Amino acid sequence: MTRYDYDLFTIGAGSAGVRASRVSASYGARVAVAEERYLGGTCVNVGCIPKKLFVYASEFSEEFKDAAGIGWSVGERRFDRTKLIANKTKEVKRLNEIYRKLLEDAGVGIADGHAEILDPHTVMVDGKRYTTEYILIATGGWPRVPDIPGREFAITSNEAFYLPSLYETIIIVGGGYIGVEFAGIFHGLGVRVMQVHRGPLFLRGFDHDVRKTLEEEMRKKGIDLRFNCVVEKIEKLKGRIRASLTGGLSLEAEKIMFATGRLPNTGNLGLERLGIELDHNGAVVVDDFSRATLSNIYAIGDCTNRLNLTPVAIAEGRAVAETLFNNNPMRPNYSNVPSAVFSQPNVGTVGLTEDQARRQYGQIDIYRTTFRPLKHTLTGNDERAMMKLVVDPSTGRVLGCHMVGPDAGEIIQGLAVALNCGATKAQFDATIGIHPTAAEEFVTMRSKLAD
Ligand code: NDP
Repeated sequence: MTRYDYDLFTIGAGSAGVRASRVSASYGARVAVAEERYLGGTCVNVGCIPKKLFVYASEFSEEFKDAAGIGWSVGERRFDRTKLIANKTKEVKRLNEIYRKLLEDAGVGIADGHAEILDPHTVMVDGKRYTTEYILIATGGWPRVPDIPGREFAITSNEAFYLPSLYETIIIVGGGYIGVEFAGIFHGLGVRVMQVHRGPLFLRGFDHDVRKTLEEEMRKKGIDLRFNCVVEKIEKLKGRIRASLTGGLSLEAEKIMFATGRLPNTGNLGLERLGIELDHNGAVVVDDFSRATLSNIYAIGDCTNRLNLTPVAIAEGRAVAETLFNNNPMRPNYSNVPSAVFSQPNVGTVGLTEDQARRQYGQIDIYRTTFRPLKHTLTGNDERAMMKLVVDPSTGRVLGCHMVGPDAGEIIQGLAVALNCGATKAQFDATIGIHPTAAEEFVTMRSKLAD
């Protein structure tokens, strides 16, 4: 391997690239990573971390309201957006430095700048050439705004993390993770939110009871949900924008944010020149071991558009390091990957939805409960929680767990372990609950729903 400067050259220091680089270095590989924007990638800078901080910030408004029913008098309330953004940005900068230190301590070289692959063993960063045995592409994704007239007036989640001001009204387009999370964030911060989604219900691919429950709860909070419509044109008016929708309707607001998916960041890397296969979205086509169509080039994380979640990207990064430098060929495990949507209320989910289970297993059993969380018996808040188990009656195995309600993500994480161990409904039932919690409902659901 010594005929090259490095054993591994990683392009992109996000969650995936950093994990692969550090683990590879720990196995003795000589590793460098190039980063043109910010260390830590989307998750740290304009994704999971600042998003969750914004969710915490926005949840306070409802908690202030709830407090009254419990006997608290809350005085004058004012929200200082500048302070939130400054503190969030300070935390992001701290994390950027931690990422730099983690890489340095692992002995990974950092090349700041845009990387381009010149040939299968040479990468150029800002005019400097590096030779390497393996190249790892971990360049993530970037928000995509559909090509409609006036798209230049729209913001995306990238800009929403640095709001120059807090609007009175906003239109959010898209019904995926980012759309519903930001609808909750803006609503909680006092913005009037209209969310537009092209399908009949948002969160396509999630369990239908999850989608329906979240719809009801978001409507109850006062979020204006518009389904089955598409924004066809955006016009700038004085201090406002107008979004023309299919069917002749139009909506006006101060801002419009598109959360209509993200595209793999694979342009200007020299991939086409090398003949590396990309799919119709520009994602790097890889095999089960994350190997691209050139045998010494690998790709992981959102730029491969498999399952675009940070922990999955990290698992893909580790698997590449194991495969290349620990003599331990490893495929990432995509079964029972849990996920949470930090909507308000939260969604947590693992395993098969009811529809997926019916398609795969035919006959299935469903257990479902909806209830008002204990806290709200005093607060007067009429938010309800929903929990659901999907079970294969022939083996008793729990195929899916779904929840809408406070801390759903925290609760589902533990259940994902159970599902990965092949837990059965009888084992759920035999587990003692923790009382009084919402989570105990998952081990006390006894009656299955009629078909
Ligand atoms: P998603 O792919 O989740 O959702 C995109 C949404 O936009 C869908 O509702 C889609 O509709 C709609 N859409 C797509 N194209 C158009 C169009 N041309 N016109 C109108 N609507 C359109 O993307 P997000 O941007 O929400 O999130 C990007 C990725 O980030 C996701 O893959 C997710 O995995 C990840 N993420 C994860 C989070 C978490 O784990 N909590 C949080 C945030 C992001 P349709 O359903 O009909 O296709």
